[in-house]
Amino acid sequence: MKVASLLGMVAFLGLLLLSLGYHAKIKRRLALAGASCCLSLGALCLLLAVTPGGNFYGPVLAAGSTEQKLAALTFDDGPCRPYTEQILDILRDKDVRATFFVVGRNALQQPEVLRRIQKEGHLVGTHTQNHKDLLRLEADEVNREMAEGIESIRAITGERTSYLRPPHGFKDFVVMEQAGRLGLTVVNWNVIPRDWTNPGVSRIVENVMTNIRPGAVILLHDGDSPGGTGSREQTVRALPLIIDRLREAGYELVRIDELQK
Ligand SMILES: [Zn+2]
Repeated sequence: MKVASLLGMVAFLGLLLLSLGYHAKIKRRLALAGASCCLSLGALCLLLAVTPGGNFYGPVLAAGSTEQKLAALTFDDGPCRPYTEQILDILRDKDVRATFFVVGRNALQQPEVLRRIQKEGHLVGTHTQNHKDLLRLEADEVNREMAEGIESIRAITGERTSYLRPPHGFKDFVVMEQAGRLGLTVVNWNVIPRDWTNPGVSRIVENVMTNIRPGAVILLHDGDSPGGTGSREQTVRALPLIIDRLREAGYELVRIDELQK
């Protein structure tokens, strides 16, 4: 069931209770208490859908279950020139393997960048075909967004990915069910440096370092949502500092599939 349908149901139930109370069919105090329970339940359902680590709707990999100092750098929304290539240069020079969740339509526009991601040993996951908010779509549209995202990657790299990062990390029962049908592991994050807001290079680095813990999945961006023109220059400048600081702190940087093990 879509989270939107759940919200509709609890809203209907809340209004029904208020109406019954208003017409003195039930005690007004009971009606108010019931309606506020419905409101809280609706807010909770929505919160669980948009919280990156929530497992209420199904299993989400938001962190590795390890005490070892392992962490995974993940990049969303690319491929996007020139940032993806700059990031790849840094990762190559620092001998780091990362995970890229690519938007299918971006990949089709820049297939050679995606091929380079794969060739240099990084893990490729899908960030769907068009980066739509999956919570707003019907089940068949959700399936299509994921399946086309997988196919775009396969057409360019020859490999079928089994990792999905839903746009914005949003998920509900429909998203999780369709991901399961397509054999996709849903990957979110537990360290969010908010690089897409361009808060400054040192702020991005500190946001990582103050929240780092064993098994961390770090959310960064090498692109912007389709049609967006946000600069990822700060991410590019922060990346070498993040890698150096994490290594100084004893962390080994791995791909999501390695973290999952
Ligand atoms: Zn995204």
